[in-house]
Amino acid sequence: MLARNTDLNGVISSVEQLEARFNRKFNYPWVFLNDVPFTTDFKRRVSVLTDADVSFGVIPRENWVQPDWIDEGRAQEGRNKLVRQGVIYGGSVSYRNMCRFNSGFFFRHELLTPYKWYWRVESVVHYIDELGSDLFCRPDVRYYCDLDYDPFLFMEEHDKVYGFTISMPEWEPTIPSLWSTVKDFITEHPQYVSPDNSMDFLSDNAGDSYNMCHFWSNFEIADMDFWRSEAYTKFFEYLENTGGFYYERWGDAPVHSIAAALFTRRDQIHFFKDIGYKHAEFAHCPQGRLWREGHCSCDPNDNFGAIILRNSPCETNDGTDFAQNSCLRHFM
Ligand code: GDP
Ligand code: MN
Repeated sequence: MLARNTDLNGVISSVEQLEARFNRKFNYPWVFLNDVPFTTDFKRRVSVLTDADVSFGVIPRENWVQPDWIDEGRAQEGRNKLVRQGVIYGGSVSYRNMCRFNSGFFFRHELLTPYKWYWRVESVVHYIDELGSDLFCRPDVRYYCDLDYDPFLFMEEHDKVYGFTISMPEWEPTIPSLWSTVKDFITEHPQYVSPDNSMDFLSDNAGDSYNMCHFWSNFEIADMDFWRSEAYTKFFEYLENTGGFYYERWGDAPVHSIAAALFTRRDQIHFFKDIGYKHAEFAHCPQGRLWREGHCSCDPNDNFGAIILRNSPCETNDGTDFAQNSCLRHFM
């Protein structure tokens, strides 16, 4: 879990839920990472929530901050443009640091190198952007259901690489040149593309253009050896060298999703339809038998793979049907 000291209440909420619904039975270790040291208070309040091992790490500076070779003038222009377009986190450098770290570095952190499997966990965040102008309301992170089996063993036993719960389209202005960069990469390195890939999840015209579909990476259960592989290492370096994480605002969700869809087999990507999860306005609620057996607290009628919760206190939706936006139909 990546978190700031100021995220403490949200972190406690997420850890408390996951411990009660899952980890109390399994006792998997928790790893918390931050770009600055966690406070004593943070560590004390979080450690008390579990009997499992808990470790707290600091991210090496060179894996977090904007690299020196980035042209700051051009980066500033890119940020201004997204601010003018009203794109969330458009003006934020720290958000870009976070996306780049999650894309290329978390799995190389010394606290994570002993591990192969991870579950990425997030918290409620009330975020004030660096310009101080906007308060984005991030209402909730919820884990709705009991999980009685071990999802890591499931992944291993079924030869899976990447697991998700929610999929949706990315906001195009954040990644204008990502797809052409991806196409250049696969032209130069065709050997990394799986013959049994999921290009049709990403593209409605056999790879010509990107349909913006991605797996929402604030929830991931996945194999870090995939991110450490030659294919992904080369892919990340290629993306990194364009500066797109800073000149544009490339998210780790499309970056991870494109790599998983192209460099693994289709059957190595798993939809955890039995894990109830909500992040901000979007939720996945398991259906039927899964809802009953999971003792889920979500409303099963409110589920379309990705929905906006109408009565959310942070509701900003003008009536757009976000259900239409789920990318699940591209995956099934
Ligand atoms: P969103 O889900 O795309 O809206 O992004 P969030 O603001 O939720 O950030 C994703 C995760 O990264 C959350 O768990 C945050 O706590 C964490 N995060 C975001 N920015 C920073 C940062 O500057 N420092 C640290 N340590 N964590 C951050
Ligand atoms: Mn978040």
